[in-house]
Amino acid sequence: AAKSAGKNQVVVFDGELRAARMRQTRIATGLRRALARGEFALHYQPVVDLATGDIRSVEALLRWIPEGGEPVRPDVFIPVAEETGLIVEIGLWVLEQACADARRWHESHGITVAVNVSGRQLRDETFSDAVLAMLDRHELPERALTLEITESMLLATTQVETTRIVEVLTRLREHGVRIALDDFGTGYSSLSYLRALPVDVLKIDRSFTTPLTEADHQRTRAFTRAIVELSASLGLSTIVEGVETREQADVLRQMGSPLGQGYLFSRPVTAERIDDLLLVAPWKRAA
Ligand code: C2E
Ligand code: MG
Ligand code: MG
Ligand code: MG
Repeated sequence: AAKSAGKNQVVVFDGELRAARMRQTRIATGLRRALARGEFALHYQPVVDLATGDIRSVEALLRWIPEGGEPVRPDVFIPVAEETGLIVEIGLWVLEQACADARRWHESHGITVAVNVSGRQLRDETFSDAVLAMLDRHELPERALTLEITESMLLATTQVETTRIVEVLTRLREHGVRIALDDFGTGYSSLSYLRALPVDVLKIDRSFTTPLTEADHQRTRAFTRAIVELSASLGLSTIVEGVETREQADVLRQMGSPLGQGYLFSRPVTAERIDDLLLVAPWKRAA
C-alpha cells in the first residue's frame, strides 16, 4: 500500500508540475503580446516624509490587464518575464513611461521616481546607455531617477555576472542615478549585500513594519530601530515599506525613520491621481 501511495504521489506531483508549466507558458504567450496590445499600465505609490506628510518620491509599479481577462499580479508575471527574457523589453517600456510621467512631477515638486529593475535587465550590455539616453530624451536629471534592486536578484547569478551588475550600477551611480536596495532584511545575507552593492537608499521590508505595534513587539522594534540606525550611519536614505496604520507611522517617526510608504498614505494609483495627491494629500488633513 505504501508503495502504491508513493507512486500516486509521484503522479500527483508530476501533474502539478505539468499544470504549473502550462500556466507559465500561457502567461509567457500573453506577455509576448501585451506590449503591442497596450495591456500594461504603470501605477505609482507615494513615499512620504513621516515628519511633514509631504510626498518626496513615487515608486512605479507595473500593472498587467490582459485583453478580456483579469489583472495578473506582478508577483506572478514578473518571474515569467524574467525567465523568458521578456523583462528586458518590458523594463524599457516601464522606464520610458516612468520618465515621461516623472518629468512634470520633478519640475513642479522636485519629486523623484523609483523604478524596479531585475537582474536580467542589469546584465544586458546596453542597459546603462539606454537609461542615460532615456533620461536625456525626457530632459529628466539623473538624480531624479532611482533604480530599485533586490538582493534576491543576485542569488542565481554567477560571480562574473554579479561583478558585471555591480559595474553597471556603479556607472549609473557615477552619472547621478540613485540605487535603492529593496525588501531589505528578507534575504539570507542582507548585510553582506549591503556592503558589496553601491547603494544610496535602503528600503526596509514590510515584514518589519507589520509587527511593530503588536503586543509582543519588543524584538521587532529592536531590529527595525537597528536597521534604521545602521542605514543612517552609512549615510543612506531610509524608506520603511508597508506602513498601514498611524500607530506604525508614529513608532517609526520616533525611531528616526525619515520616510515611509504604504496603504496608510496611498495604494499604488494612476499618474493622474498622483497629480491630485501632490495638490492635496488627504493624510495631512486627517492629522
Ligand atoms: P516591491 O518593489 O517591494 O513593491 C512594493 C509592493 O508592496 C507593491 O506590490 C505594493 O503594492 C505593495 N504595498 C505597498 N504598500 C503596502 C502596504 O501598506 N501593505 C501591503 N500589504 N502591501 C503594500 P505590487 O505592486 O504587487 O508589486 C510586487 C512586486 O513586483 C514589487 O515589490 C516588485 O518586486 C515587483 N515589480 C512591480 N513592478 C515591477 C517592474 O516594473 N519591474 C520589475 N522588475 N519588478 C516589478
Ligand atoms: Mg520596489
Ligand atoms: Mg519592496
Ligand atoms: Mg517586493
